[in-house]
Amino acid sequence: MNGMNTAPLRTSVHVHTTFCDGSDDPAAMAAAAEQQGLGTLGFSVHGYVPQEKFGLPPARTGEYCAEIHRLQAEYAGRLEILCGIELDTQTPLEQLEQAKKLDYRIGSCHAVRDAAGRFWTVDDTPELFGEGIREGFDGDPMALALAYYEQFIPWVCALRPEIVGHLDLISKFNRNAEFFDEDAARYRSLCLEAVEAVLRADLVIEVNTGAICRGWRDRPYPSALLLRRINEAGGRVTVTSDAHSAADLTFGFEKALALLRWVGFRSVWELTANGWVERAL
Ligand SMILES: [Zn+2]
Ligand SMILES: [Zn+2]
Repeated sequence: MNGMNTAPLRTSVHVHTTFCDGSDDPAAMAAAAEQQGLGTLGFSVHGYVPQEKFGLPPARTGEYCAEIHRLQAEYAGRLEILCGIELDTQTPLEQLEQAKKLDYRIGSCHAVRDAAGRFWTVDDTPELFGEGIREGFDGDPMALALAYYEQFIPWVCALRPEIVGHLDLISKFNRNAEFFDEDAARYRSLCLEAVEAVLRADLVIEVNTGAICRGWRDRPYPSALLLRRINEAGGRVTVTSDAHSAADLTFGFEKALALLRWVGFRSVWELTANGWVERAL
């Protein structure tokens, strides 16, 4: 651990703005990041999801990059700004190609495809999540979980983004086991297998506090079970807030760090303009 910086986290790189479903524009986010003393702010606009007309259409990627690059120049020497994107399993090839030229990528899955080819959101509302289980997977939450990991994990391991987004997002609405038992052997083996594949691919996994901020959970993703395995295997994690407003840029970071220390992690990783930096915990 010698030589590692032990200062508090100074990066926030899972950040949404009015270019997708965030409430503040990039300029307001940058002003807030500087005010809060961050060293690096990374914008990660949602990639396009055709079924829901959600995220940034590929035709607007240039406009998005131009605005982030304008801010990069404006804040030069004061705040590092990175231009990234949160890609989804449904993001069209055209935008996956565009994304290769950006500073970094987050790879996430927000909806799962059933056998009939219909997509069901897993992170919109508990009602829609329940509808997906009922209508798309014959009422079997484990069938949905299996489909989620089967569709997400091979895709993200092939994509090799800088960050794997909210690995077990399907537990978002499951705080009191409303939909399934996260301790059941079947679910544990599904999500542990998923994490093994991501570890083999040596990808950085985010510890995402977004659902705590929005009142859905009291712990970040991934679950403590998965964090323990990641730590045991020497995997790398980075803390993110999935901020959708300027007030939330570092929401829950202290809580996430405390959890990581409790699990046994000795360090976390932060994405900067010079690549990944390891910080002691
Ligand atoms: Zn996401
Ligand atoms: Zn996000």
